[in-house]
Amino acid sequence: MRIAETVTFGGSGLDRAAELRGKTEALKAQDDAQTILLWQGKPMIAGDTLVRVAMDHPVMADAGADLVFLGRENAAPVFAADLSGWTPENLETATLDSFLDPSEQRHPAMPEAVFAELRAIMNRLTARDAELAATAKAIMGWHRSHRFCARCGTESTIAMGGWQRDCAACGGHHFPRTDPVVIMLITHQNAVLLGRSPGWPEGMYSLLAGFVEPGETIEAAVRREVFEEAGVRVGQVSYLASQPWPFPSSLMFGCAGEALSTELTIDPNEIEDAIWVTREELALAFSGNHPKLLPARKGAIAHFLLEAWLADRLD
Ligand SMILES: [Zn+2]
Repeated sequence: MRIAETVTFGGSGLDRAAELRGKTEALKAQDDAQTILLWQGKPMIAGDTLVRVAMDHPVMADAGADLVFLGRENAAPVFAADLSGWTPENLETATLDSFLDPSEQRHPAMPEAVFAELRAIMNRLTARDAELAATAKAIMGWHRSHRFCARCGTESTIAMGGWQRDCAACGGHHFPRTDPVVIMLITHQNAVLLGRSPGWPEGMYSLLAGFVEPGETIEAAVRREVFEEAGVRVGQVSYLASQPWPFPSSLMFGCAGEALSTELTIDPNEIEDAIWVTREELALAFSGNHPKLLPARKGAIAHFLLEAWLADRLD
C-alpha cells in the first residue's frame, strides 16, 4: 500500500541512534540536549506541538532520574522524561483511566502547556511529534509493568537509555515488548465486514481485530479471528499497512482479506454485532450522513483503511 506510512503514528524517519544508547549520560550533558515530558503516559503539549525543554528547565525538578533516549533531531539528542511522580494540585482522578480522558494537567513551571491524553490529541500532532510521543509512552508503560525480572523476580534496573532492563541477580536482559495485532478489511464484492464491541458509542462499527497468537502467522491470525468472531471464512490475505498503537504496546497489522462466505455467526463473548456494509452506506457514514452508522475513530488504522478502501487507494 503506497500510502501506508501516512497513517497516524506511521513514522517520521526519526533517527533513533541506537548505537548511542550506551552513552546517554554524556548525551544528556550536551548543551543542545532536549527532552519531551510525560505524566502518567500523557505527553505535554502547547497548542498542537509536543513540548521540548532543555535539561536544566525548572520543570525537570519533578522528573524521574531515568530518561529515555529517543534519538536525534537535527543532530541534537532528544529524550523523554517521566513526571509521573509529581501530583498536580486539585487533581481530578475520575476520568484519568478512561478511554478518551478529557482532563488536562498543568505544571506550575510550564503554565502555557498541558499534559493531554495521546488518543485525544494524536490527530493534531506532526508525524515527528506523534512518533516521539508514541515511542515514549510505549517505553514508559513497559518500564511500569516490567519492573521485576521475568526470570527470577528480582527488581531490575534501566539500562541502554531506557531500551533495556538488566537483572543483577540472574544476569538477565529484558527488552521492550510489542504485541502484534491483526486488523482486517474483509470484503465481499461491494461490501466490507464491520463489527462492534460492547460499550462502544451507539452506532459505532469498526474493522474486526485480534491479537496474533504464539506460533501463528499474520495470515492465519486474520482467518482465525474472523471465523471466531463472525463465522466468516477468509481466503486470500494481504498486508496493507501497520500502525504502532501505544495503548499500551500494540503494533497493528492492517490486512485485506477476501471473504469466501457471507453468513454471519457472532461469538457474543468477542463482539456484540457484525454487519456487511456497502461502499455507499460507508460513504454516507464517513460524511456523517448515515442515520445509524458511526465510522471508526479518526486516527485509528481502521478509519485509515476504510477511508482508503472508499477512495480506492489500497494499492
Ligand atoms: Zn533475574
